[in-house]
Amino acid sequence: MSSTELIGGRSVDLTKATVLVVDDQPVNIQVIYALLCEDYTVLAATSGEEALSVAREARPDLILMDIVMPGLSGMETCQKLKSQDDTSEIPVIFITASYSSEEENECWMSGGIDFISKPINPMTLKNRVKAHLMLKYQKDTLLEMVYLDGLTGVFNRRYLDEHLIKHIHLSKRSKRETCVLLIDIDFFKQFNDRYGHVQGDDALKQVALLVKSKGLKRITDFVVRYGGEEFVVVLPETNISGAKQVAERIRAAIQTLNLEHLDSPFGELTVSIGITGCLSYDVDDSAVLEAADQKLYQAKVSGRNKVCF
Ligand code: GH3
Ligand code: MG
Ligand code: MG
Repeated sequence: MSSTELIGGRSVDLTKATVLVVDDQPVNIQVIYALLCEDYTVLAATSGEEALSVAREARPDLILMDIVMPGLSGMETCQKLKSQDDTSEIPVIFITASYSSEEENECWMSGGIDFISKPINPMTLKNRVKAHLMLKYQKDTLLEMVYLDGLTGVFNRRYLDEHLIKHIHLSKRSKRETCVLLIDIDFFKQFNDRYGHVQGDDALKQVALLVKSKGLKRITDFVVRYGGEEFVVVLPETNISGAKQVAERIRAAIQTLNLEHLDSPFGELTVSIGITGCLSYDVDDSAVLEAADQKLYQAKVSGRNKVCF
């Protein structure tokens, strides 16, 4: 069975998908593995506890879950997966030998999306898996289109609008600072004028990637393309001194790109960064961004290639 499909004329390669099989009986895992291994990457876990850690680490696209296991049952494992942000979106299909509606109801209530009954019919297993992987792919693609910036691949403004305000709320409640960095490329208009838009776009991509890879260390930190050549970084539970370190790391990393910019006094591409903490403001994301913008302005007027807070 081929795992390449066409959606709207576009070919979708599901062979990159990863399926996690959870069963306390290795022989059951082997049966499923044999049916799926040609089409997908198949991972295995022999307990609910192990499934939780594999799911967090490997983020599979689909989980096939046995129901009766010593330790955490399939339903309990599913509930835990659904309650954690980083695993809640992974679809879970239960593999069940029972025909009790009560047990089926429990599976639905724990967050499962489908059943496959034992003994397994190979065609049914393959087709169910394929159908759910396709749905997952469509959902992921849609989310990407809604929340990611098309040029750089980092989050977009819509993502910031929906998430910054939540972090400000959390910060107020916990009284732990959340900091916001506003990063702006220096003399970028001149860069475009001299080197052209294609190189300009490429520089934007490199900057975004570097901010993400070198700048951000915590899983809760995120970067957004805020506008043309401006990026916002949100650092939850981080005080100003921590934010200064992150900003300085980003500013220095951009210089290691060594992107020539002969119309800049620095001779290469640089950024200026404004920092603000949200605790000094009301629960108002635009006030926080406005404050970061004022600090950015200070960095600009005091010479650029600088961090101001
Ligand atoms: P400053 O040092 O004060 O920040 O000056 P600047 O030239 O960087 O800032 P300004 O706001 O005057 O110009 C921003 C420029 O960024 C305008 C445009 O040429 C460029 N730009 C904005 N969006 C894009 C984009 O998507 N691709 C490319 N290639 N360039 C962009
Ligand atoms: Mg700008
Ligand atoms: Mg600029």
